[in-house]
Amino acid sequence: MGATTKHFIGGEWRTGEGSTMTDLNPSTGKPLAEFPVGTAEEVDAAVRAARDAFDNGWRDATPSSRRKLLLKLADLIASNATEIGKVASEDMGMPWAFTIGEAMFAAEYIEYYAGWADKIHGDTIPLSAPNTLDYTLREPIGVAAAIVPWNSPLSLAIWKMAPALACGNAIVVKPSELAPLAVLRLMDLVAEAGFPPGVVNCVSGDGALTGSALVEHPGVGVIAFTGGTATGRKVAERAGAQLKRVSLELGGKSANIVFADADIDAAAVQAGVGCFINTGQQCIAGSRVLVEESIHDTFLEKVIAFASNWATGDPLQPTTQMGPLINEASLERVLAFVDDARGGAEIALGGERLGGDLADGYFVAPTIVAGVRNDMRIAREEIFGPVLSIIPFRDEAEAIAIANDTEYGLAGGVWTNDLHRAHRVARQIQAGTVWVNTWLAVNPQTPFGGYKASGIGREGGKEALDVYTQIKNVYVQLR
Ligand code: NDP
Repeated sequence: MGATTKHFIGGEWRTGEGSTMTDLNPSTGKPLAEFPVGTAEEVDAAVRAARDAFDNGWRDATPSSRRKLLLKLADLIASNATEIGKVASEDMGMPWAFTIGEAMFAAEYIEYYAGWADKIHGDTIPLSAPNTLDYTLREPIGVAAAIVPWNSPLSLAIWKMAPALACGNAIVVKPSELAPLAVLRLMDLVAEAGFPPGVVNCVSGDGALTGSALVEHPGVGVIAFTGGTATGRKVAERAGAQLKRVSLELGGKSANIVFADADIDAAAVQAGVGCFINTGQQCIAGSRVLVEESIHDTFLEKVIAFASNWATGDPLQPTTQMGPLINEASLERVLAFVDDARGGAEIALGGERLGGDLADGYFVAPTIVAGVRNDMRIAREEIFGPVLSIIPFRDEAEAIAIANDTEYGLAGGVWTNDLHRAHRVARQIQAGTVWVNTWLAVNPQTPFGGYKASGIGREGGKEALDVYTQIKNVYVQLR
């Protein structure tokens, strides 16, 4: 097992003073490292370090100096992508080839916001009152808190850090107790890039103690949270009590609608990838695939053929496409969903834990459940596992009704070769992202976030700048 990790506060690595937790490798169930559970005092030290850095230089740093630091960090992440990808892969089980891609994507994301650093400005507003000048300033909030889940730790930390820093905020990051190592490794690169001490801090720990202390801290001005909807509600309630700004990226139960006129081969492949990638532990997993009745059997055959060849195993092997679930509890939860569906639907593929060489890890087979009705538990709750439900529909109106019959609204997909239908349906889907004839395309330039119980606020695109800035109006009476 590796050594005990430390917190990164005020530009220094500090030994934790509270308890420690063990971080497990989900592929083997064996310990990887011990990490400290950040106490309220350590969270306070991190927030104070961030505030100091903000007040004493970072707020007034030139936009071009912020841009250059961000670009340097992007370069460092890209040039260390293989190594940092391995850290993430061992820690949370995503195949190494994909975690390298995640690191490269994180670097691109930073580059995009580096480009914004010197383009964030207000407006001048013409007034009807005589002899006046009115303009707005777009100012940073101060200290941002980033609460990051385990399922894509690197990119979801960067989605918050990059816009927050570009706008001139300092930040305290809390990675998940289930996979903190890639975010901690990222702090080495932050230091190497030359960010002033305290501009970026990281306190590891659990949600109940460390996460809560960060949410409650009066010195935090904005909380950017990615995680489950239930936790997001708690964070929002407590932030609301202090009138803190929040950005919440929460769960999903996204519908991928396949019409009979679509390219069925492409739809079957993308439906499989869209649900099984990262072992289904994606907020944007296309976990409900709605298929027009006339092509149902053909589509099912094709998606089963695709999933049967989806290579599940050791995430460090280059040919692996799917690793384990994050832990035993998650594995039990996923299998319980499948068991629950057995009564009313058909398990067309998978549905079991994998044994043999994989028996010590938390591996399940890619699973396809056919004949699902949208009122079944499997179609209503977020599973966060590689379980794809196929729901047949008769016509466009029914497909839209089923797609929207969920508390969530993160993403949706439309597969059709009818241009008119594609746009018509895209407008009707109640979700923050709609893909047409593809799935999973996420880019730094575009806003990402949820409708309904999938969240508040947007990460990505120019919209994320709104989360990390506040507007001041300046009214000048001229003589
Ligand atoms: P959780 O909601 O359990 O945790 C998310 C983060 O919040 C973790 O860092 C966690 O810490 C922390 N946390 C937990 N409780 C509290 C608390 N009371 N106060 C402050 N922080 C707290 O989610 P998971 O880690 O299980 O992630 C999976 C969920 O995230 C899924 O539901 C998924 O849909 C969602 N998700 C959403 C995405 C989106 O962009 N919309 C993207 C990725 C995931 P710790 O882990 O240490 O307990």
